Amino acid sequence: MSTPRVDGERLWSDLMTLAAIGALPRGGCDRLALTDADRDGRNLFVHWCREAGLAVSIDAMGNVFARREGSDGSLPPVFAGSHLDTQSPGGKFDGPLGVLAALEVVRTLDRAGITTRRAIEVVNWTNEEGSRFAPPMLCSGVYAGIFSREKVDATLDIDGVRFADAIEAIGWRGTNKAGSTKLSAYFELHIEQGPILEAENKTIGIVTGVQGMRWYEATITGREAHSASTPMNCRSDSLVTAARLILAVREIADAHGPAGLGTIGRLQVRPNSSNVIPGEVFLTVDFRHPQDRILDSMESALQNAVQDLIRSSSTGLRLNRILNCPPVVFDVSCVAAVRTGVEKERLAAREIVSGPGHDAVYVSKVVPTSMIFVPCAGGLSHNEAESITQADATAGAQVLLDAVLALDDRAAV
Ligand SMILES: [Zn+2]
Repeated sequence: MSTPRVDGERLWSDLMTLAAIGALPRGGCDRLALTDADRDGRNLFVHWCREAGLAVSIDAMGNVFARREGSDGSLPPVFAGSHLDTQSPGGKFDGPLGVLAALEVVRTLDRAGITTRRAIEVVNWTNEEGSRFAPPMLCSGVYAGIFSREKVDATLDIDGVRFADAIEAIGWRGTNKAGSTKLSAYFELHIEQGPILEAENKTIGIVTGVQGMRWYEATITGREAHSASTPMNCRSDSLVTAARLILAVREIADAHGPAGLGTIGRLQVRPNSSNVIPGEVFLTVDFRHPQDRILDSMESALQNAVQDLIRSSSTGLRLNRILNCPPVVFDVSCVAAVRTGVEKERLAAREIVSGPGHDAVYVSKVVPTSMIFVPCAGGLSHNEAESITQADATAGAQVLLDAVLALDDRAAV
């Protein structure tokens, strides 16, 4: 069977039409989760789904599933999608590309008169960004059983609005229970949000997994004293110890590079006064690596650095790990289905591990999953200037279609 071709013009025109909802002056979008703009984006998407003859259902978290039936009702469906919510401000493509490409996949099958054996469902996950309701990927998290509905409903935005009230306010509380059903596979097309594909002139990233993440909080305690009258050898300066810790984190990341990443992004100095020796510093450490055993090694190096600083300084130092997200390895047969698509299309591609998290991270806990990346200009994302080419969007959607068909051809189990 020759593979039908996705309509890249149609996909691009859909992306631009959706981007007009919540459009910002510098080319980006603001469709924060469960705002009026998110509601309008959802309405447009569902209108397109119904136009394509899909049966739309909505679960209690507002996740949207648009179904095209297959020929064998005994086989679990294949999901493909991503998210329509954006950062504030955000770009046009982070999320919508995966949802609208999945819609283009089912339209293409219609045009070609092909009925797959498995049903295909186009999915929009609610509140992927976590920008309004933290943490990210909340509602794919409920689907996968990571978070309870009650916990998410009680989550507050920065103005103290509950998730439950926000979803009721825009009329998107669905009637279906939120939770996983048996699926054959989940595929998510997404922009890379990093510079690797562009730098290597690759059109497609065959995503094999998502790197792990560990977060820590450190509190360093010194002694506040007058800067004019305290001799240097009598000081207990928490900020000097913090500076040494910052350099240690950098050295640990470099020693586990290039895949090891270490960041101190938050620093609070007390009392934060020009003529007072800092009495207390609070800071956060963020470590990333695709392998858990390397994260173990980075963590023990950090603990050693902390012990050295306690011994060699006159300050106290407490370190707590507050988050441990292990690396995700995607399903071998789903990754193989993506590779089949890449080979069929003769596209320049490489395997890649995702830096950021995606809905696919949680969905992969309950469903065989993989992702497809396409390049974005300069690796820029979460930015109004986020930009991709129509050719790359089309190639990504084509590989998504090929992957869905390759998986559907697999022997039924
Ligand atoms: Zn995204």
